[in-house]
This record gives sequence, structure tokens and C-alpha cells, in this order.
Amino acid sequence: MHPSTEHLETNLKRGVSVIELSKRLQEVASFVPHGAVVADIGSDHAYLPIALCERGQVTHAVAGEVVKGPYESACRNVKKEGWADHITVRLASGLFAIDENDGVTAVTICGMGGPLIASILEEGNGRLGTVERIIAQPNIHAEAVRRWAVANGWTLVDESIVKEDGKIYEVLVLERGEASYDEEDLVFGPFLRVERAPAFVEKWREEHVSLRRVLESLKRAQPSTTIEEKRRNVTSQIERIERVVRI
Ligand code: SAM
Repeated sequence: MHPSTEHLETNLKRGVSVIELSKRLQEVASFVPHGAVVADIGSDHAYLPIALCERGQVTHAVAGEVVKGPYESACRNVKKEGWADHITVRLASGLFAIDENDGVTAVTICGMGGPLIASILEEGNGRLGTVERIIAQPNIHAEAVRRWAVANGWTLVDESIVKEDGKIYEVLVLERGEASYDEEDLVFGPFLRVERAPAFVEKWREEHVSLRRVLESLKRAQPSTTIEEKRRNVTSQIERIERVVRI
């Protein structure tokens, strides 16, 4: 039997609670390959690596956290749930939580802005040597992660979008490879824009409404070259949403 499955069954028999992930993190977990060695970066409670171990989806994981309080909370949870032999918790910035001997094959980075995720990937690019898949869940500006991927020899192999507690989250799955995406792919997501799931349409409808408000206020502003430039920029973003999302 898979060692982790044994753990899971023992836990279930003992009536030990299994971590219940949020819908957003469940979606991320669904893209972690079975048997991967996963590094969860920004792992404040270590819920994701613990849940992956409990399900027998992975046997070894790293939980990296840069802030002491959340790091201590991750350490406590890993110990409390009995996974200290399987999950290494490290206090480190970004991918510097990964040691080359860990043999990490999948990285998850969730719950941060796209530009921060992209900068973490950029700064720690050298630690991705053994990594085959990156699962990123940017809260905003997913475009920054797609741009980083294209510039660094990664390609999108899947995307997903979920709504939880009134908020909409994109999940990006990257693997090594070359891709040639156009601007619309980078902004809206090459998979998401084709699939046009209800959450996707809702996200861009909201963005459309907010950009139209910005445009109205720019129209009322004192004319200047800067205002005119902003107006052109916002108008082109509005038109792009109308074209791609068909609203
Ligand atoms: N990943 C969890 C999730 O999705 O529920 C936690 C998200 S929480 C909003 C973001 C976490 O990332 C915080 O605990 C923060 O301290 C951590 N973080 C931010 N920048 C980081 C970095 N450069 N390296 C490691 N962790 C970082």
C-alpha cells in the first residue's frame, strides 16, 4: 500500500479529522500530480500540503513561509496532524525554501497577487531545476504569471476559474515548454477565454463595469495629455473585454 494511503486510512480509523480545503485550494490540489514531491510556497497554515498527504496524493512536501508567525502556525499544524516526517516546513523567502536534495517536482503558490507570484518565480528560478509543474493561484493580475511563464520557457497546460465567498480565483497550471500567446491569451488566459465558464464571464463583466466607471470619471476630468492617454488606454481595455468576452 502507498505509505501515505496507510496514514490516511489510519487517520480515518482513529477518527482524526481530515483537513477540509477551501474550494479554491481544492481546485489547486486537483492539479497536483499523484506522487509528486510538492513545495507549497507561502504556506501560512500548511493546509494544502497536509491535505495532500492525508489524501495519499503526495508522500513528501515542503511548506515554505517567509513570515515567522505563519511559519510557526504551519509547523504547529504539521506536527499536530502527525505529518512531521513527511512535510518539511522552512522559514524562507519564495523558492529559497526548496533545497536541491528535496527533489521537488511540483510547486504550488497560492493566494498572492500575480506580480508577487511572478517575482517569486523570477527570483528563485534557479531552484526550479527538478520542478515539472507549477500551479499558481493569483488573486489578481494573473496576466503577470502568464507573462513570466512565456518569458522563461514554461507554457500553460491548463487553467481553471472558481468562485468562492463572492470572490473569483484563477488557477494556472504551467509545465516546461514553448508557447506563443497573443495579448488576449495573456490577459484572459488561453484556456479560460475559450472555455468561457460562468465565473470567467462574471469576472470580466465586473471588470468591464469598473473600467466604464473609470472612463466616465476621466471624461469629467480637466483635459490634459495624460488624461487623454489614460482615456485611450481604458477605452481599449473596455473594447478588448467586449470583443473577447462578447459582452
Ligand atoms: N497559500 C495560502 C493560501 O492560498 O491560502 C496562504 C495565502 S496568504 C494570503 C499569503 C502567504 O504568503 C502569507 O502567509 C505570506 O506571509 C506568504 N508570503 C508572501 N510572500 C512570500 C514569499 N516571498 N515567500 C514565502 N511566503 C510568502
